[in-house]
Amino acid sequence: MTATLIDGKAVAEDIDRRVGQAAAQLRGLLGRKPGLAVVLIGDDPASEVYVRNKVRRAAQAGMESMEIRKPASITQDEAIAIVRQLNGNPSVDGILVQMPLPDHIDAGAVINAINPDKDVDGLTAVSAGRLLAGEDGLRPCTPAGCVLLAERAMGDLTGKSVVVIGRSILVGKPAALLFLEKNCTVTIAHSRTRNLPELCRSADILVAAVGRPEMVQGDWIKPGACVLDVGINRVDAPEKGPGKTRLVGDVDFAAASEKAGWITPVPGGIGPMTIAMLLRNTMTAAARRAGIDLAVAR
Ligand code: NDP
Repeated sequence: MTATLIDGKAVAEDIDRRVGQAAAQLRGLLGRKPGLAVVLIGDDPASEVYVRNKVRRAAQAGMESMEIRKPASITQDEAIAIVRQLNGNPSVDGILVQMPLPDHIDAGAVINAINPDKDVDGLTAVSAGRLLAGEDGLRPCTPAGCVLLAERAMGDLTGKSVVVIGRSILVGKPAALLFLEKNCTVTIAHSRTRNLPELCRSADILVAAVGRPEMVQGDWIKPGACVLDVGINRVDAPEKGPGKTRLVGDVDFAAASEKAGWITPVPGGIGPMTIAMLLRNTMTAAARRAGIDLAVAR
């Protein structure tokens, strides 16, 4: 392996620590802990794990974390009413609705009911519009984590060519806009893109957010590039025993590490950054709502 491994877990721990310091400072100024509310509808086992991790990390960082659990049978209006109640709760600074929602609920309608100033996942249409317009706002967590890791690895990103594979509203599109904000030259690739390997070979920074195990091959990587693997895919691992599985990214890690300058592993790369960015967003939201300028909030 020639690439330097980007340790997302270590960076996330560093951010959590700084968020914790800011939370203590903010607690003194506000007379209360910054508050994060997480709404979980239904009993999806993966969502249960994500919510548990978010609530635990928020509490560890010195925040008040509130978990609202509702059965999958609740109606869309009831889900929206929960969000509106949280919008009006002065001790709640950040609201997160865990995805996916049950099929009978329009996720967009529920997300867009969140007050954009409490939208710590950065997924409301208003937050997306603020990002597009270059206005202050809460940025989506996973893409923000990608940019932060790229900056930690490469320093100033001005002028870098970035290829983002994937155009979802959750990862690909906001990642492209966030790299653009850093003065990168950005190309967004998707399932209809022609000559994808060749395009990828032009990238100083390659972001893979596809959801296809190990799709990005070693010879797609420009020598010395920074490879950010967002994908989380569970695949069979017969070598670990019958019925066993393991997690892999969208990049063939072993081959790509021979070409890249920096690379994120899966797990332990982008994944831990997502919650760190959520906590940072919650601090930002709490500070802005109180009109306080905190270093971590910038
Ligand atoms: P989506 O399924 O919403 O989007 C996938 C994108 O990949 C689409 O834009 C699709 O193109 C594109 N795509 C699919 N096949 C190809 C192909 N053969 N060539 C080029 N592009 C292709 O996924 P998400 O953006 O939500 O997530 C992507 C991955 O990131 C998943 O593995 C997910 O689990 C992971 N993830 C990880 C997070 C973390 O914290 N680390 C957080 C969020 C997601 P088209 O639009 O044309 O269909």
